[in-house]
Amino acid sequence: MNSLKNLSDQKLVENLHGLITEERQVLIQILGHLAEICRRRLHSKLGYSSLFTFCVKELGYTESQAQRRVLAMRAIQVMPELETKLSTGKLTLATVSLVQSHLNEREKIQDSKVNLSDRTKLFADVENKSKREVEGYLATQAAANPILARHLTQQKESIRQIGVIDGEALFELKINISKRLLDKLRRIQDLSSHTGKTEKLTGLLDYLTEVVLEKIDPARISQRISVKNLKRNKQCEQGTQGLAQKSEPSAEQITAHGAEQKSALEISLRTFPGKLSEGKTPTLPPPLKLRQSLLQKPPHSPKSPTQPLQFGRRHIPKPIQREVFQKSEGCCGYTDPNSGKRCGETRYLEIDHKTPVAFGGDHSIDNLQLRCRSHNLLAAIQVFGPEKMGNYLRK
Ligand SMILES: [Zn+2]
Repeated sequence: MNSLKNLSDQKLVENLHGLITEERQVLIQILGHLAEICRRRLHSKLGYSSLFTFCVKELGYTESQAQRRVLAMRAIQVMPELETKLSTGKLTLATVSLVQSHLNEREKIQDSKVNLSDRTKLFADVENKSKREVEGYLATQAAANPILARHLTQQKESIRQIGVIDGEALFELKINISKRLLDKLRRIQDLSSHTGKTEKLTGLLDYLTEVVLEKIDPARISQRISVKNLKRNKQCEQGTQGLAQKSEPSAEQITAHGAEQKSALEISLRTFPGKLSEGKTPTLPPPLKLRQSLLQKPPHSPKSPTQPLQFGRRHIPKPIQREVFQKSEGCCGYTDPNSGKRCGETRYLEIDHKTPVAFGGDHSIDNLQLRCRSHNLLAAIQVFGPEKMGNYLRK
């Protein structure tokens, strides 16, 4: 750095311009590398649940740095000409990522892609504008679309630690909510007022989380069932009759009237029930059936509450799903065979068949594993090939 002191003012500025040009080229190279990693799904193979997680945990970017780069990479995938605009400085990483984020939200609410001419216009309109100017421009665009404006307003949230009290961290949560949601919260406050715990919003949130977790947390449901079965066994030992039917049914004996239907375990299962003819590759089911929520009822409803259900090939009984969940400690169990790194994702979990249904795989515990969406998809691609999985990937 001492050598800089000897440079003339003009040379110093010239050098800086050169470095910034190089910096932009490096950025484009980085975005290109990310796109290729994404194309190969290398982040999944290395044990990361998303490209964003890969950027944060493997590359060391902060969350906002990672988000900007992933957004810019997506923008360039659709409009390769953005590379030139980034390299000349007409657009910056910040402005491209802001526009792409805006486009993502638009696509989310309209449930279809924004057409190329609209995209092109948006990016052209923000050329040579500062980040703040682009934010203002996008806010004006959103204001013209009330649904988008409301959606974006409700998207804003922040959680930050503001201190520690009695050894427990304390956080500040900021969110924007609609009148409709506020009314629902007030209604719950009214209905739960007898508890004496929900007068304040903090108490209400605690109450709501307890109610929901009791319903959907596989660990809690399993624990409840164990206690119930323990109680039943004890009563049976004591000669009490007639409780067996009320206990947790086995995988084969689940009834449509059982508590099973009430839980909302949001893990999903991937099955490919296409028939495998000898010497032929398996056929895939139509797209959009990749995930099957456990909220769905079994395919057949019994006439009698005690009549065992005849499950379809795709249905995995919930006790088995919970067992898989517990076996995997509630997170994705994919492990990179080279590094030994385990994914560990706890969101968007799905149940994967090690041997797919299409290849004769069954619903036994040994054949099932918990995977995040990314690793479930990776497994499917490895089994069926990217060509056959094309429809799923596009969706
Ligand atoms: Zn995973």
